[in-house]
Amino acid sequence: MDFPTTGDPFVDAGRIAARAIFAYRHLREPSKENWLQAIDFAATNYQDKWQSKIDAVSLNGVVSHNANKKKARAVAVNFFQKLFADDTANESAVEGWCRGCGEYKTLFNGGRDILPLSGSGAFLNFHHGYETGVLLCAQCHAALFMLPFAVMQCGKNLALLQTQTEALQSFWQKSTIEQNLTNLARGNSEGILRSPFTNVRNAFFALVNEIISEWYAAQQTFEAQDLRLFYFTNFGASPECEIYDLPATVFKFLWIVQNPNQPEIRSAWQRFVRRHFRIKGAAYDEAHNSWLKTKGKDKGELQEEDYKNHYNLIYGMLLGSRNILFMMFQRKNRVNLVPIEIAKAYCLEVRLMKKERIDAVLNLADRVCELVQKANAPKLIYPLESARVVYQFRAALLRLLKKNIAAGEQTPLFTTEDYLHKLLPDGERWTDVRDLMLIRIYEKLHDFLQGAEEKINEETVAIPVEDEEDGSF
Ligand SMILES: [Zn+2]
Repeated sequence: MDFPTTGDPFVDAGRIAARAIFAYRHLREPSKENWLQAIDFAATNYQDKWQSKIDAVSLNGVVSHNANKKKARAVAVNFFQKLFADDTANESAVEGWCRGCGEYKTLFNGGRDILPLSGSGAFLNFHHGYETGVLLCAQCHAALFMLPFAVMQCGKNLALLQTQTEALQSFWQKSTIEQNLTNLARGNSEGILRSPFTNVRNAFFALVNEIISEWYAAQQTFEAQDLRLFYFTNFGASPECEIYDLPATVFKFLWIVQNPNQPEIRSAWQRFVRRHFRIKGAAYDEAHNSWLKTKGKDKGELQEEDYKNHYNLIYGMLLGSRNILFMMFQRKNRVNLVPIEIAKAYCLEVRLMKKERIDAVLNLADRVCELVQKANAPKLIYPLESARVVYQFRAALLRLLKKNIAAGEQTPLFTTEDYLHKLLPDGERWTDVRDLMLIRIYEKLHDFLQGAEEKINEETVAIPVEDEEDGSF
């Protein structure tokens, strides 16, 4: 059975559930009889195994309505028999274009009882023309009836991954619908499937990591796409929906840093993420890559289970499309928190820096490292570290250029072409150049800088704030 996607996340998820249930029950054609058998199967499970607790998806529907809960199966089958009979005697039946699949069919009115977060009953002004609901064909009604199989309870609301490609569809189908079918067969399903997470952002990243691991395991090529997670409830008087977007650029970046064939990069990334959980009364322990309690008598290590639902700053910033490059190093301790490969991948995929530009920046950072080591003067880095505005950074680069000449080097630190077209081209953010340089320098000079006893007299090495000492360069 083939169901093209419609673009409506609920209808699409319902159709994937229907497709999986058809396959599970060995129903081939989407005939009326087969639809009714699939509905019978779903309704039986809702009533007998889940005690008809699907209110968060369907408000006062054929199963979730209080009056129907104990006889949900009979009511649901009867209801859908009427729809599939194209019963034009049904007062809401009209001919038209279905709001779900877009086909011209006999349509039936549906409200929040079947389509989450739509309008119905007292919410007439939800619809453009004050209709009493959304007009859907019998198949779309039936697919939406199976939506509870395709959502995941995550904390107080339900999570639903929008899927627009085959690969994502099959992933979501496995992680929800097929998992439900397996649990039901084993007799250990008591309601809508629960995510191991209650924090939706962390649940989203766990899903993305699973997708990536699965694709690598299946040797599947990467499919760039934006990922969207709906976090919603259709429950009672307080329906709500939050939408979490992970841009294709960030997805591609995660695909690179989570590559199981590069275990060092992968574990460095996971370490970087772990240190950015927000945990009160605990401190991140660098040496053991774990969190230690700082309050109370027990100063022991926290298990991941203890904090996996805490807010994570990196996840929050990536979902908010905020730049995390400056978090990949610490100026105060002069250390990089990720290997340069991660910073490079981030600049290339998420910051959309050109490869030649990244190479030029890293090349300059390498030359600065040589200069610092030869002169045995870590203080030379300070103007770069302390640059807060672009003219300070320009002055810092010029100062290094002069030091290089004074050191008797044959080739200049950078050429005018490099400077104009690669280091600080118009319209590009200069802070990315500074941050990428510092990550490289801290990584390359790690032992040298950590061993340095030099006390920096910040007054003498800082670039003056007001005075652009080297003119208009
Ligand atoms: Zn339809």
